[in-house]
Amino acid sequence: NAKEEGKNDYRFFTSDMNARAMERLRIETDLRKAIEEEQFQLYFQPTKHLGQEFISSAEALLRWQHPTYGMVYPDTFMSVAEESGLINQIGKWVFKSGMAQAAKWHSQGKRVQISINVSGRQLRQPHLIDEIMTQLLETNCDPTLIEFELTESAILEFPDKAIEILRKLRAQGFSIALDDFGTGYSSLSYLKQLPVDKVKIDRSFISGLPDDKDSRILVEAIIALSHKMGLSVIAEGVENEEQLDFLETQKCAKIQGYFYSRPLSVDAFEDFVRRHSHPLSSSSN
Ligand code: C2E
Ligand code: MG
Ligand code: MG
Ligand code: MG
Repeated sequence: NAKEEGKNDYRFFTSDMNARAMERLRIETDLRKAIEEEQFQLYFQPTKHLGQEFISSAEALLRWQHPTYGMVYPDTFMSVAEESGLINQIGKWVFKSGMAQAAKWHSQGKRVQISINVSGRQLRQPHLIDEIMTQLLETNCDPTLIEFELTESAILEFPDKAIEILRKLRAQGFSIALDDFGTGYSSLSYLKQLPVDKVKIDRSFISGLPDDKDSRILVEAIIALSHKMGLSVIAEGVENEEQLDFLETQKCAKIQGYFYSRPLSVDAFEDFVRRHSHPLSSSSN
């Protein structure tokens, strides 16, 4: 499939260390050009709120339209973007595009909350909040339409600083989600100290459902604890009906995954929204 092709293009070289270093350097050079020429795109993966037909949220996922390789996925370039610091410039583009898209849909009468991924390196950027606020003003976006997703490990690199940033973002009206939850090293009780609104249960636990006992126990515990703490929960990587059924019984209110929808281009997302629109609004157009 396209994803495999995109991944393999940069693995053209053999796997010795020198070749790997060359490969990374080539990605870095190409990324600089990609930033200049805006070769990036955001795809949007709809989120399913159980018991609700219409779409009210989506995760923005970065895609790179490489002039010769076609679509390149984050797994291929994100570590280079982070190590080189280019993620800060790329991230700025992501903030701008994600907010512009949310504002556009909002102005068309569709309220879609958009989740934007932020990496640990971005959290260490000195003027991150100023930059986010600038993009918010420039795109005329309502901050309640934006959620930032961070992993536990990104936060735990510099927890005090990270917590301060998250507090400030929430004070501005943004929401915060803890991405890939369960894969980090912190204890569940540490959750209480983090200024977050939502927990995203990592795909690796969902893939074991419903048969693997450990996955079941963990997922049940995360859901119950999150609810107790007043946090919202979403399961990521839901790929089949059995997983969905299990999550429904556990009262997990939101799901995301290929079973509901893959990440979609803007056009495909708008089609999807139309097909899943509120019965009252769909009968009138
Ligand atoms: P993530 O934030 O945990 O995003 C979820 C990833 O799981 C996405 O991969 C998504 O396409 C994939 N996914 C969704 N549903 C399913 C499913 O049912 N099964 C499987 N197997 N996979 C599913 P993607 O788009 O390749 O992104 C990978 C990672 O790259 C993201 O993980 C995130 O950490 C990072 N990333 C993506 N976009 C951005 C961005 O704009 N900025 C930053 N800083 N990081 C980004
Ligand atoms: Mg994410
Ligand atoms: Mg995730
Ligand atoms: Mg991830």
